[in-house]
Amino acid sequence: MNTNHLPHILIIGAGFAGLETARGLAGAPVRITLIDKNNHHLFQPLLYQVAIAGLLPSQIAQPVRTIFRNQRNLTFQMGEVSAINFEEKYVKLNGSIMAYDYLVLAVGGRTNFFGFDAIEKDGFQLKDLETAVKTRNHLLGMFEQASHEGDPEKRKALLTFVIVGGGPTGVETAGALAELISHVMVKDYPRLVLGDARVILLEAGPSLISSYPDELRKATARLLTRKHVDIRLNAKLESYNGQFVTLADGSRIETQTVIWTAGIKATEIVDGLRVDKASAGRIRIEPTLQLPGHPETFVIGDAAFLEENGQALPMISTVAIQQGVLTARNIRRMLAQKPPETFRYKDPGLLATIGRNAAVARIFGISFSGFIAWVIWVFLHIYRIIGFRNRIIVMFNWAWDYFFYDNQVRLITKE
Ligand SMILES: Cc1cc2nc3c(=O)[nH]c(=O)nc-3n(C[C@H](O)[C@H](O)[C@H](O)COP(=O)(O)OP(=O)(O)OC[C@H]3O[C@@H](n4cnc5c(N)ncnc54)[C@H](O)[C@@H]3O)c2cc1C
Repeated sequence: MNTNHLPHILIIGAGFAGLETARGLAGAPVRITLIDKNNHHLFQPLLYQVAIAGLLPSQIAQPVRTIFRNQRNLTFQMGEVSAINFEEKYVKLNGSIMAYDYLVLAVGGRTNFFGFDAIEKDGFQLKDLETAVKTRNHLLGMFEQASHEGDPEKRKALLTFVIVGGGPTGVETAGALAELISHVMVKDYPRLVLGDARVILLEAGPSLISSYPDELRKATARLLTRKHVDIRLNAKLESYNGQFVTLADGSRIETQTVIWTAGIKATEIVDGLRVDKASAGRIRIEPTLQLPGHPETFVIGDAAFLEENGQALPMISTVAIQQGVLTARNIRRMLAQKPPETFRYKDPGLLATIGRNAAVARIFGISFSGFIAWVIWVFLHIYRIIGFRNRIIVMFNWAWDYFFYDNQVRLITKE
């Protein structure tokens, strides 16, 4: 069937926002092209599990072609969009030009190192499968090196792991890494004195997970301390040279591992766009999620900047998903000559895990911490992972880890 006469919807990015837009247009009389530089959708909230050898990359990612196998009006193209012409309505992809009637820019974000080039070079980050696997290989490699290091000071430095950023990702990574050491590595390296191993969580501000209510911040600090994470508040990193971290107060920490979780900004393609931008390089958009002056262009998810009640919407998956849902609805409305609707974020609550049996949550205005919050976290994440097979495998993995204290993916692989 020739569908060339149908409006062409171009969606850039198969992350949370782009995926939801594409799904919301299933069955609509349109031609959708979904583009991503990777061939998979990635469940980023579980990247830290790949880094701490809890899950395999394939368990938190799903090929986009598999996801949309049954959606007839959608074609997937793998490739990196290198330029966008909003006036003439086309993008540049893989050396050619692709025209559109509606554009959905859902390109997400990237790690913001705030100009710390040394950390970008010598440190680690959790942003995609490559960076998570690189972090896992490095962490496991540190134990191997420490196991044959004769000098106690050098051994201690090899087993010192610094995580920068006390937001949810930093907290989750610190808790999980502390448990990997105390429950798993202790069995793999019986001759190593793992009392020497330290997980240090640096936060420049006065509290961890500052966007969470006070009771949850306190519970987080308590749970992490119980797992022997060394929390340092008001600790501003000044420099890192691959051997030691220097803090603003002049103190030094010898380490070969700095995991940076302290910031995020808009992705590369956004840098070159001549549009109005706000903090972190995100694109300012209308409350209808459209680009000012270009009603046929929607910018959503981490790439977009929108305020509600005077506060910028956070760069989190629930915002991206809800914006994807509304974008699909607004495109349908515009095709039916109706005006687009305004975005209102429905906050589903807050959730962060701090290792086995421990999490903090705020749902329906009620704060939980400890085991109940952890059970909620486990089931919500299993529910949200895409793909029936992945859900079963992740559930099996976590149950195994839970009962046998044994992260199964302790592989050092070639990158
Ligand atoms: C380590 C980590 C932990 C997180 N934990 C949580 C959490 O617990 N809870 C939560 O709600 N949120 C969490 N987040 C944030 C959440 O993952 C993001 O808010 C969400 O992914 C944003 O969705 P998005 O669709 O805007 O972008 P993304 O999901 O980042 O998707 C963007 C897509 O665009 C593609 N792309 C980018 N540029 C181009 C280009 N030029 N051409 C083609 N394709 C391109 C990318 O490959 C990617 O697939 C976490 C993020 C990270 C990194």
